[in-house]
Amino acid sequence: MHRACTLLLVVLTLLLPGMIALIGSAVEPTRSPRHGIVVAVSPPGAEVGRAILQKGGNAVDAAVATAFAMAVTYPAAGNIGGGGFMLIYPADSKHEPVVIEYREKAPLAAHKSMYTKKDSRYSAKAVGVPGTVRGLALAHARFGTLPWKDLVLPAVKLAEEGFVIDAPLARSLNWIVADSPRFPELRRVLGKSDGSAWEAGDRLVQKDLAKTLRLIAEQGPDGFYKGTVAELLTAEMKRGGGLITTEDLAAYEAKIRRPIHGTYRGYDVYAPPPPSSGGTCLIEMLNILENFDLRKQGRFSPETLHLMIETMRRAYCDRARYLGDADFVKIPAFLTDKEYARRLAQSIDRHKATRSEDLAQDIPLKGEGDSTTHFSILDGDGMAVANTYTLEHSYGSRIVVRGAGFLLNNEMMDFNWFPGETTRGGRIGTEPNQVAPGKRMLSSQTPTIVTKNGKVVLITGSPGSRTIINTVLCLIVNTIDFDMDLQAAVDAPRLHHPWFPDTAGFEGTCEYPETVRRLEAMGHSLHGTRQGDAHSIGLDRKTGKYIGAADHRIDGKVSEF
Ligand code: GLU
Repeated sequence: MHRACTLLLVVLTLLLPGMIALIGSAVEPTRSPRHGIVVAVSPPGAEVGRAILQKGGNAVDAAVATAFAMAVTYPAAGNIGGGGFMLIYPADSKHEPVVIEYREKAPLAAHKSMYTKKDSRYSAKAVGVPGTVRGLALAHARFGTLPWKDLVLPAVKLAEEGFVIDAPLARSLNWIVADSPRFPELRRVLGKSDGSAWEAGDRLVQKDLAKTLRLIAEQGPDGFYKGTVAELLTAEMKRGGGLITTEDLAAYEAKIRRPIHGTYRGYDVYAPPPPSSGGTCLIEMLNILENFDLRKQGRFSPETLHLMIETMRRAYCDRARYLGDADFVKIPAFLTDKEYARRLAQSIDRHKATRSEDLAQDIPLKGEGDSTTHFSILDGDGMAVANTYTLEHSYGSRIVVRGAGFLLNNEMMDFNWFPGETTRGGRIGTEPNQVAPGKRMLSSQTPTIVTKNGKVVLITGSPGSRTIINTVLCLIVNTIDFDMDLQAAVDAPRLHHPWFPDTAGFEGTCEYPETVRRLEAMGHSLHGTRQGDAHSIGLDRKTGKYIGAADHRIDGKVSEF
C-alpha cells in the first residue's frame, strides 16, 4: 500500500507539469526552440517576440505577440486600431507562402465624394475599419502553435505595469503630445501625468489599453470587434462625426491571399497582392531591371541610378493607372509579366530622362510621413514572417478611443480622395482607388521574402508610404546584383521616384555629387531625402548563417538567442 502510494506520487510528480501545461494551452508547440531572430524598431517589442520563440513558439506566434506588444511600446505605428499585411513563408515545402491581409476598409456609409478640401486628415472621418486584431487572430488560427492568450498577455503586462522608455520614444512622445492640442485624450494617455516632458528611463503605463488588450486575450478578436470596445469605438465615431458603426466592426474580415510571386535573376520574390500595390509594383520593377546588367555598371553610377529611376517612374505610373482593391477593380495580369517588362525596358532611353507627363497618356493631369512599422522574424525551423502594419500617419488620426486607450488609424487618406484629380504634385485621383463602401484603400506596404531553391535568403520591408516599394527594391538590388552583406545593403543610400512629383529622392546626394550632376545633365531632377527603416533578416553568404540587421536610420533591435 505504502509502496503503491509512493509510486502514484512519483508518477503524478512526473506528469503534473505536463498536465498543467496542457490545461493552460490549447495547442502544444510543435517545435523545439533553436536559433531564432526578431528584428523590429521597438526593443521591448522585439524582446517579446524573442521570448515567444525561445518558449517554443514558431515565427507566427512570435509575430502575433510582437505586433500586440508594439501596440503598447511603439504607439506611433504599432497598433490594434490600424491594419497591415503579414507575409508568411512556412518552414516546409508542403505549404505555400501566404499573405494574411488585414488592411482597413471603408465603412459601409462611405462614398466616393465624401471628402472636401476642408476635411482634416486628423478626424474621425479619416478612420478606416481597423483590421489588425482580426488579422493577427487569423494568422494565429492558421499557423499558431501556442495558445492565443500567451501571445496577448505580454502586451497586457507591458501596458498595465508599464515599461521603461528609451530616448527615441521619449522624443517621439514629447513631439506628438506637443503637436496635438486638439486631442486631449491622446495627451492624457501618452503625456506624462505631471505635464513635464518624457525622458529616457521614465515608465509609460497605459491602463485603458491594458483593459482592452485583456479583453482581446480572454475573448479573442470578438473582444475588440464586439461588446464594450466596439461600443467605445463607435461612441468615439459619433462624437467626431465618423462613419464606423457596430455593423462595420462586426462584419470586418481579414483575408488569406496568395502573395504576388516573381523571379529575379534566379531568386524567388514574394510580396503582398492588392489591396497593396507593393507586390505588383516590386515585381514589375524587378522584371524591368532584369533586362539590364546593373552589376557591370556599379551600384551608384549614373547609369544604374538612371535605369532605376526610369523603372520606378514607369511602375508608379501603372500603380496610379491600374491598382486598387482587387475585390472591387479588375487588375490586369500583364503588370507582372516578363514580356510586358521587356517592352517597358526597351522604352527607356539610356541617355535621357523620360518626362513623367509623357507617361500619363489617358490620365488627365491637374495643377507622406513615415509612420508605419515593419518587423522580420525567422524561427529555428526556417519559418519566416515579414509583417508591416500601420496607422497611416504617425499616431494615425491622433484619436484615442476614450476608455479603451488605443489610437485609431487615418487610413482613409490612402484612397484617392478627390476623384479625377491627378496632379503633377503627386495627388492621384484615378478610378481604381476611389472610395466605395466596404472597399480597402490601396497600400504600398511591401513585406517581402526572397528565397533561393526554397530557402529563405532575405526578409525585409519598411515604412514610408509610397517610398516603401522602392526601399524594398533597393534592398533586393543591393543584395542580389551587388552581393552586399545585409547591414551594408540596409545602410546604403536609397532612391525613390514616385512618377509624380517628377523628381527623385536620393539619400546619397552628398556622397555621390558627380553622379547627381550627371543625372541632372540627363534631365533628371534629384533632391536629398531620407527613406524608411528596413529591419531585415538575411542569409550571410560567408558563414551560411542567418543574421539580423536593424536599420540605423532609426535604431531598432535585433533580438536573438
Ligand atoms: N498607409 C501607407 C500605406 O499603407 C503607409 C504609411 C506610411 O508608411 O507612411 O501604404
